[in-house]
Amino acid sequence: MIRQSVNVIAIDGPAGSGKSTVARGTAKALGYLYIDTGAMYRALTLKAVNNGIDLDDGQALEGLARETKIFLEPRGEGLSVKLDGRDVTNEIRSLPVTEKVKYVARQEGVRAEMVKLQRVLGEKSKGAVMEGRDIGTVVFPDARWKFYLDADFEVRVDRRYRELQEKHIPGTREEVSRDLEARDHTDKTRKAGPLKQAADAIVIDTTRMSIDEVIAAILTKKDALYVSRIG
Ligand code: C5P
Repeated sequence: MIRQSVNVIAIDGPAGSGKSTVARGTAKALGYLYIDTGAMYRALTLKAVNNGIDLDDGQALEGLARETKIFLEPRGEGLSVKLDGRDVTNEIRSLPVTEKVKYVARQEGVRAEMVKLQRVLGEKSKGAVMEGRDIGTVVFPDARWKFYLDADFEVRVDRRYRELQEKHIPGTREEVSRDLEARDHTDKTRKAGPLKQAADAIVIDTTRMSIDEVIAAILTKKDALYVSRIG
Protein backbone atom coordinates (compact mmCIF):
# COMPACT_ATOMS: atom_id res chain seq x y z
CA MET A 1 0.00 0.00 0.00
CA ILE A 2 1.39 3.41 -0.91
CA ARG A 3 0.81 5.88 1.90
CA GLN A 4 0.37 9.54 1.24
CA SER A 5 3.34 11.68 2.06
CA VAL A 6 2.60 12.91 5.57
CA ASN A 7 2.96 16.42 6.86
CA VAL A 8 5.75 15.43 9.20
CA ILE A 9 9.16 16.95 9.67
CA ALA A 10 11.38 14.07 10.78
CA ILE A 11 14.41 15.05 12.85
CA ASP A 12 16.82 12.27 13.75
CA GLY A 13 20.26 12.23 15.30
CA PRO A 14 22.25 11.22 18.38
CA ALA A 15 21.74 12.59 21.89
CA GLY A 16 23.06 16.12 22.30
CA SER A 17 22.84 16.97 18.62
CA GLY A 18 20.30 19.67 19.49
CA LYS A 19 17.28 17.73 18.23
CA SER A 20 14.86 18.40 21.08
CA THR A 21 15.31 22.16 21.38
CA VAL A 22 15.40 22.58 17.63
CA ALA A 23 12.34 20.38 17.08
CA ARG A 24 10.41 22.33 19.73
CA GLY A 25 11.36 25.67 18.18
CA THR A 26 10.55 24.52 14.66
CA ALA A 27 7.14 23.21 15.76
CA LYS A 28 6.41 26.51 17.49
CA ALA A 29 7.40 28.56 14.42
CA LEU A 30 5.09 26.51 12.21
CA GLY A 31 2.23 25.89 14.63
CA TYR A 32 2.90 22.15 14.34
CA LEU A 33 2.65 19.50 17.02
CA TYR A 34 5.95 18.61 18.69
CA ILE A 35 6.49 14.90 19.32
CA ASP A 36 9.46 13.67 21.35
CA THR A 37 9.66 9.92 20.72
CA GLY A 38 12.61 9.51 23.11
CA ALA A 39 10.26 10.51 25.93
CA MET A 40 8.09 7.52 25.08
CA TYR A 41 10.98 5.05 25.34
CA ARG A 42 12.08 6.77 28.54
CA ALA A 43 8.61 6.50 30.11
CA LEU A 44 8.36 2.80 29.31
CA THR A 45 11.84 2.25 30.77
CA LEU A 46 10.81 3.98 33.99
CA LYS A 47 7.81 1.68 34.32
CA ALA A 48 9.89 -1.43 33.55
CA VAL A 49 12.41 -0.48 36.23
CA ASN A 50 9.71 0.34 38.78
CA ASN A 51 8.00 -2.99 38.06
CA GLY A 52 11.28 -4.92 38.40
CA ILE A 53 11.14 -6.28 34.86
CA ASP A 54 14.25 -7.96 33.47
CA LEU A 55 15.47 -5.55 30.78
CA ASP A 56 16.71 -8.47 28.67
CA ASP A 57 13.25 -10.04 28.57
CA GLY A 58 11.89 -8.89 25.21
CA GLN A 59 8.51 -10.57 25.63
CA ALA A 60 7.87 -9.07 29.04
CA LEU A 61 8.84 -5.63 27.76
CA GLU A 62 6.62 -5.96 24.71
CA GLY A 63 3.71 -7.00 26.95
CA LEU A 64 4.39 -4.00 29.15
CA ALA A 65 4.44 -1.67 26.12
CA ARG A 66 1.02 -3.00 25.05
CA GLU A 67 -0.63 -2.36 28.40
CA THR A 68 0.99 1.01 29.08
CA LYS A 69 -0.63 4.35 28.36
CA ILE A 70 1.83 7.06 27.43
CA PHE A 71 0.50 10.53 26.70
CA LEU A 72 2.47 13.48 25.39
CA GLU A 73 0.67 16.75 26.02
CA PRO A 74 1.81 20.20 24.90
CA ARG A 75 2.80 22.26 27.94
CA GLY A 76 4.30 25.71 27.61
CA GLU A 77 7.04 25.42 25.00
CA GLY A 78 7.52 21.72 25.59
CA LEU A 79 5.64 18.58 26.50
CA SER A 80 4.38 16.97 29.62
CA VAL A 81 4.69 13.20 29.73
CA LYS A 82 2.06 11.07 31.42
CA LEU A 83 2.65 7.44 32.23
CA ASP A 84 -0.61 5.63 33.03
CA GLY A 85 -2.04 8.97 34.14
CA ARG A 86 0.96 10.00 36.27
CA ASP A 87 3.13 12.99 35.37
CA VAL A 88 6.69 11.71 34.83
CA THR A 89 8.05 14.65 32.79
CA ASN A 90 11.09 15.20 35.02
CA GLU A 91 11.56 11.69 36.37
CA ILE A 92 12.28 10.23 32.92
CA ARG A 93 15.30 12.58 32.53
CA SER A 94 17.22 11.09 35.48
CA LEU A 95 20.57 9.46 34.74
CA PRO A 96 19.54 5.97 35.97
CA VAL A 97 16.59 5.98 33.52
CA THR A 98 18.70 7.50 30.74
CA GLU A 99 21.32 4.75 31.12
CA LYS A 100 18.73 1.99 30.88
CA VAL A 101 16.62 3.21 27.93
CA LYS A 102 18.95 1.56 25.44
CA TYR A 103 18.05 -1.92 26.74
CA VAL A 104 14.34 -1.30 26.31
CA ALA A 105 14.67 0.53 22.99
CA ARG A 106 16.61 -2.32 21.34
CA GLN A 107 13.67 -4.76 21.69
CA GLU A 108 11.88 -5.28 18.39
CA GLY A 109 8.46 -5.88 19.97
CA VAL A 110 8.72 -2.70 22.01
CA ARG A 111 9.67 -0.68 18.95
CA ALA A 112 6.75 -2.09 16.96
CA GLU A 113 4.33 -0.85 19.64
CA MET A 114 5.96 2.57 19.88
CA VAL A 115 6.09 3.03 16.11
CA LYS A 116 2.35 2.25 15.88
CA LEU A 117 1.59 4.96 18.42
CA GLN A 118 3.94 7.46 16.77
CA ARG A 119 2.30 6.93 13.37
CA VAL A 120 -1.15 7.61 14.82
CA LEU A 121 0.11 10.80 16.47
CA GLY A 122 1.76 12.02 13.27
CA GLU A 123 -1.09 11.12 10.95
CA LYS A 124 -3.84 12.67 12.98
CA SER A 125 -2.07 16.02 13.40
CA LYS A 126 -2.29 18.66 10.71
CA GLY A 127 1.46 18.92 10.93
CA ALA A 128 4.06 17.54 13.29
CA VAL A 129 7.73 17.81 14.07
CA MET A 130 8.79 14.39 15.30
CA GLU A 131 12.23 13.77 16.72
CA GLY A 132 14.02 10.52 17.48
CA ARG A 133 16.42 8.01 15.98
CA ASP A 134 14.37 6.19 13.33
CA ILE A 135 11.71 8.69 12.30
CA GLY A 136 12.90 9.26 8.73
CA THR A 137 13.87 5.61 8.20
CA VAL A 138 11.16 3.55 9.94
CA VAL A 139 8.32 5.58 11.48
CA PHE A 140 7.71 7.94 8.57
CA PRO A 141 9.90 6.93 5.63
CA ASP A 142 7.43 9.00 3.56
CA ALA A 143 7.77 12.13 5.72
CA ARG A 144 7.69 15.24 3.59
CA TRP A 145 10.85 16.62 5.17
CA LYS A 146 13.76 14.80 6.80
CA PHE A 147 16.68 16.19 8.72
CA TYR A 148 19.60 14.48 10.44
CA LEU A 149 21.37 16.52 13.12
CA ASP A 150 24.84 15.70 14.36
CA ALA A 151 27.64 17.39 16.32
CA ASP A 152 31.12 16.61 17.67
CA PHE A 153 31.08 14.21 20.61
CA GLU A 154 32.54 16.58 23.24
CA VAL A 155 30.10 19.33 22.28
CA ARG A 156 27.21 16.89 22.65
CA VAL A 157 28.48 15.89 26.10
CA ASP A 158 28.73 19.56 27.13
CA ARG A 159 25.17 20.23 26.00
CA ARG A 160 23.71 17.24 27.84
CA TYR A 161 25.69 18.04 31.00
CA ARG A 162 24.50 21.65 30.96
CA GLU A 163 20.93 20.44 30.51
CA LEU A 164 21.21 18.23 33.61
CA GLN A 165 22.61 21.11 35.62
CA GLU A 166 19.85 23.46 34.50
CA LYS A 167 17.23 20.93 35.53
CA HIS A 168 19.07 20.18 38.82
CA ILE A 169 19.39 16.52 37.86
CA PRO A 170 22.36 14.79 39.56
CA GLY A 171 25.23 13.49 37.40
CA THR A 172 28.86 14.32 36.59
CA ARG A 173 30.25 15.24 33.16
CA GLU A 174 32.15 11.95 33.20
CA GLU A 175 28.93 9.99 33.75
CA VAL A 176 27.20 11.89 30.95
CA SER A 177 30.14 11.19 28.63
CA ARG A 178 30.10 7.45 29.41
CA ASP A 179 26.33 7.29 28.93
CA LEU A 180 26.45 9.08 25.58
CA GLU A 181 29.18 6.81 24.28
CA ALA A 182 27.28 3.68 25.32
CA ARG A 183 23.98 4.94 23.92
CA ASP A 184 25.54 6.02 20.62
CA HIS A 185 26.95 2.53 20.25
CA THR A 186 23.75 0.63 21.12
CA ASP A 187 21.49 3.01 19.18
CA LYS A 188 23.62 2.66 16.03
CA THR A 189 24.27 -1.08 16.14
CA ARG A 190 20.92 -2.54 17.23
CA LYS A 191 19.01 -4.57 14.64
CA ALA A 192 15.62 -2.92 15.13
CA GLY A 193 15.28 0.75 14.15
CA PRO A 194 18.96 1.73 14.48
CA LEU A 195 20.02 5.35 14.51
CA LYS A 196 20.73 5.95 10.86
CA GLN A 197 20.64 8.81 8.47
CA ALA A 198 17.86 8.37 5.87
CA ALA A 199 19.25 8.48 2.33
CA ASP A 200 17.07 11.50 1.55
CA ALA A 201 17.67 13.39 4.81
CA ILE A 202 19.40 16.76 4.89
CA VAL A 203 22.35 16.59 7.29
CA ILE A 204 23.10 19.54 9.57
CA ASP A 205 26.27 19.64 11.65
CA THR A 206 25.22 21.73 14.66
CA THR A 207 28.66 21.80 16.37
CA ARG A 208 29.22 25.50 15.77
CA MET A 209 25.62 26.60 15.33
CA SER A 210 23.22 28.23 17.76
CA ILE A 211 19.73 26.80 18.22
CA ASP A 212 18.21 29.73 16.32
CA GLU A 213 20.60 29.17 13.41
CA VAL A 214 19.63 25.51 13.17
CA ILE A 215 15.91 26.32 13.27
CA ALA A 216 16.37 28.98 10.59
CA ALA A 217 18.30 26.48 8.44
CA ILE A 218 15.51 23.92 8.78
CA LEU A 219 12.78 26.42 7.93
CA THR A 220 14.69 27.64 4.86
CA LYS A 221 15.64 24.19 3.63
CA LYS A 222 12.13 22.90 4.27
CA ASP A 223 10.64 25.47 1.89
CA ALA A 224 13.30 24.83 -0.73
CA LEU A 225 12.81 21.08 -0.43
CA TYR A 226 9.05 21.33 -0.85
CA VAL A 227 9.39 23.43 -4.00
CA SER A 228 11.91 21.03 -5.46
CA ARG A 229 9.73 18.01 -4.69
CA ILE A 230 6.48 19.39 -6.08
CA GLY A 231 8.13 21.41 -8.84
O1 C5P B 1 16.08 11.41 22.50
P1 C5P B 1 16.50 10.85 23.84
O2 C5P B 1 17.95 10.99 24.10
O3 C5P B 1 15.64 11.36 24.95
O4 C5P B 1 16.19 9.30 23.72
C1 C5P B 1 16.50 8.40 24.75
C2 C5P B 1 16.80 7.02 24.18
O5 C5P B 1 15.60 6.48 23.61
C3 C5P B 1 17.82 6.96 23.05
O6 C5P B 1 19.15 6.86 23.49
C4 C5P B 1 17.41 5.71 22.30
O7 C5P B 1 17.96 4.56 22.91
C5 C5P B 1 15.90 5.67 22.49
N1 C5P B 1 15.17 6.14 21.32
C6 C5P B 1 14.98 5.27 20.28
N2 C5P B 1 14.22 5.62 19.21
C7 C5P B 1 13.68 6.84 19.13
C8 C5P B 1 13.88 7.78 20.16
C9 C5P B 1 14.66 7.40 21.26
O8 C5P B 1 15.48 4.16 20.34
N3 C5P B 1 12.91 7.14 18.06
